[in-house]
Amino acid sequence: MYDVIIIGMGISGITAGIYLKRANKDIMMFDGKMPGGLLNEISSISNYPGYINISGSELAENLFNQINVLNIPYKLESIKDVRKVDDYFEAETSNGVYKAKNVIIACGRTPRKLGLPNEDKLLGHGISTCALCDGFFYRGKDIAVVGSGDSALQEALYLSNIVNKIYLIVRKNKMRASLSLQEAIKNKENVEIVYESTIKEINEINGQVDSIVLNTDRLIDVNGIFIYIGFVPNNDIIKKFDILDENGYVKNIITDVKGLYAVGDIVKKDVNQLVVAANDGVLVANHIIND
Ligand SMILES: Cc1cc2nc3c(=O)[nH]c(=O)nc-3n(C[C@H](O)[C@H](O)[C@H](O)COP(=O)(O)OP(=O)(O)OC[C@H]3O[C@@H](n4cnc5c(N)ncnc54)[C@H](O)[C@@H]3O)c2cc1C
Repeated sequence: MYDVIIIGMGISGITAGIYLKRANKDIMMFDGKMPGGLLNEISSISNYPGYINISGSELAENLFNQINVLNIPYKLESIKDVRKVDDYFEAETSNGVYKAKNVIIACGRTPRKLGLPNEDKLLGHGISTCALCDGFFYRGKDIAVVGSGDSALQEALYLSNIVNKIYLIVRKNKMRASLSLQEAIKNKENVEIVYESTIKEINEINGQVDSIVLNTDRLIDVNGIFIYIGFVPNNDIIKKFDILDENGYVKNIITDVKGLYAVGDIVKKDVNQLVVAANDGVLVANHIIND
């Protein structure tokens, strides 16, 4: 039986792991994909203290090195279910059942989709949610970026240095991002901001994105579509517990279920940033250490 199982190895889960391990807790971390979580999809970070600029993948690698230096055990297995049994928890993967006195949910959230019929099929064939991973494939081509928040504009700026032209598709008559990002994007000569528009159809040729049709019926030829229109919390394994708000986010880092905690983007918050997610990890670890 572990003291703590941490589900999710993004910055919030790893931070909790670092503090718990240094306090000699017997812990096990799990991730269904790869250590670093969302970090692996961020092209450039300029607001993380201590780094003037760092790529998400480099910060993820630094975190991974830190886990290894501290000998924090982890398994790259997806947790399918978490249950409370008496005064402990069981976390189940396809490889087995793991027991712990405490569980920290650090599962993050997943980018929202447009909801178009051929969207899933075209993911990886012209549709992407990761400029850092896929931007390279669109060198010299025309693409659409959908969204107007900080993430959309940050990634559009990165892509503007790679692609020929970007059509930034904005649903309303103004953007949501911070003013500095809005200024930066407006100064890019190869970015056309298309206000009051949504994509109503994606046309494909040979299974690849070929063009989009907007709600205004404008047809735009693009080889790629990068979607940044919000997120859905990864809460499937904790829906049975009465700890979620009306949007599916965990209400508090210390939940009403004794021994069950949540950190990072899966917790309801006003600002979803790396330092805030890491902060959750410290607070929860400290609570468990002092419990
Ligand atoms: C495009 C983009 C740009 C951003 N830029 C910045 C920036 O410049 N500065 C900044 O401060 N923040 C930025 N952010 C926000 C920041 O990335 C997030 O707030 C932070 O990474 C959240 O960390 P997390 O640990 O909560 O979750 P995540 O990083 O999402 O990690 C969650 C992990 O849980 C794993 N997981 C989920 N379910 C399970 C399961 N059932 N079993 C096992 N593992 C599971 C996932 O595989 C994942 O690895 C950006 C976000 C995006 C999308």
